[in-house]
Amino acid sequence: MAARTKEYGVYIGGEWVDSSGKETFETRNPANERVLATFPNGTRKDVERAVAAAEEAYPRWRGYPAPRRAEIVLKAALVMEERKEELGALVTREMGKVIAEGRGDVQESIDFLKYISGEGRRLLGETTPSELPDKICFTLRQPKGVVGCITPWNFPTAIPSWKIGAALVCGNTIVFKPASYTPLCGAALMDVYEEAGLPAGVLNMVTGEGGVVGTAIVEHPKVRSISFTGSVPVGKEVYEKGARRMVHVHLELGGKNPIIAMEDADLDLLLEGILFGAFGTAGQRCTAASRLIIHEDIYDLFMDLFLARVARLRIGDPIDPKVDVGPVVSRDQMERVLNYIAIGKNEGAKLLCGGHRMTKGAYGKGFFIEPTIFLARHGMRIAVEEIFGPVLSVIKIKSFEEAVAVANDVEYGLSSSIYTRDINRAWRAIDRLEAGITYINAPTIGAEVHLPFGGIKNTGVGGREAGSTAIDEFTEIKTVFVDYSGRLQKAQIEEVKPPK
Ligand code: NAD
Repeated sequence: MAARTKEYGVYIGGEWVDSSGKETFETRNPANERVLATFPNGTRKDVERAVAAAEEAYPRWRGYPAPRRAEIVLKAALVMEERKEELGALVTREMGKVIAEGRGDVQESIDFLKYISGEGRRLLGETTPSELPDKICFTLRQPKGVVGCITPWNFPTAIPSWKIGAALVCGNTIVFKPASYTPLCGAALMDVYEEAGLPAGVLNMVTGEGGVVGTAIVEHPKVRSISFTGSVPVGKEVYEKGARRMVHVHLELGGKNPIIAMEDADLDLLLEGILFGAFGTAGQRCTAASRLIIHEDIYDLFMDLFLARVARLRIGDPIDPKVDVGPVVSRDQMERVLNYIAIGKNEGAKLLCGGHRMTKGAYGKGFFIEPTIFLARHGMRIAVEEIFGPVLSVIKIKSFEEAVAVANDVEYGLSSSIYTRDINRAWRAIDRLEAGITYINAPTIGAEVHLPFGGIKNTGVGGREAGSTAIDEFTEIKTVFVDYSGRLQKAQIEEVKPPK
């Protein structure tokens, strides 16, 4: 492994090399703005070099049997397991989620890499009979080639691991672009794969601006597939560009996830669920519960309990295990969230708690926002747009029908939840909520890696990550017909007579 200082290069062909450009950017701890490392603002030329390295490595990686490829991915999981504390702390320092969640981010990576390494011995196709005698039909899965993986900052090891792990087992080589708030977590993954014995060139990483590095990956003629997780506006741009080149684009985008609380909800359970769902990761999860759609009959009773608990949440440096809520990831993100709080006030939503940046003492050095709750009305911007911060909109409803209508009336469809003791109503919610994921008596967060993950409407296009569907994103299906009759047989034309 090449010796490195805190000034990183780009990772191409198995080593850290200089970018072709001179510009750099810093990654900082959002709790105190301390600089953690410097990375290159990569260039189009860097992406070309990375794609060339991936292309060069592709035939050998593709030819290495899938079970063997999977062993390297499994080894990466074991390396991460060994380094879990260190990596978890890195996630917390660079991204700002509390340390328990920092470890959780790494654990999710480990879990997924272990799960997907099992695919090395499956990667199943199907076999079927033929309509003609002495002929057999089957499908097999083949890698796509060089794939581009572009990721956000909120799960800085888990989301890259979902993409990289699946792409590798399937036999692809990769150009990876991490989010610019969390490149150090990306760099740590390069170390992990090096330690796991991944051949040089199979996985390459270029940091830098989305509009430059991301665009260069998406537009590169040799990149055969794009796996993108991020915001809807950028996702649309990526989709359009991919369509122009006719390449597969998989998008995992935003959410405005509702928890529906019916009048028969278990209020203690609901309380724990909404606290974790709305303010875990300071609300910066694509699956965060950003709407509480609550029956008017329990509103007063529940909100008293809820506001009292929110007032006791400990906000601070996320590396401190006693802290419940850390900072948001950056100054820009903080401004965006504060802007939404101002929008909420202007559109007449009632501020029930929070609503400010915290600036006293050590807070002033970081990007801390008070957990904020509005009593809103459906249709207000804060009640339908993704804020991606510790801001919850509470919406009162009178019936189950109204709750489902409100829940569904947004552009997103990622996660959803209902708290009720009525089993029939729970099943109706499973049927009718327009979302890729539905939880019953649990909050909107908490995905498990062996199940498909993703959403509908503006949340996603192109399949599901994780679970048994993860390999669909990174393989092409080849359909094979083997005719062992020794003569030309014509499907649809030849008459096959019944036996006498
Ligand atoms: P973002 O869209 O700003 O950026 C995502 C990635 O795309 C980054 O690496 C960024 O540098 C890159 N990028 C930016 N412009 C680009 C361009 N023009 N072409 C190609 N790449 C470009 O999102 P973010 O702020 O990093 O992440 C937050 C968003 O991600 C939220 O909307 C959240 O809901 C979503 N998200 C979705 C899921 C999911 O699985 N559905 C999971 C996590 C986060």
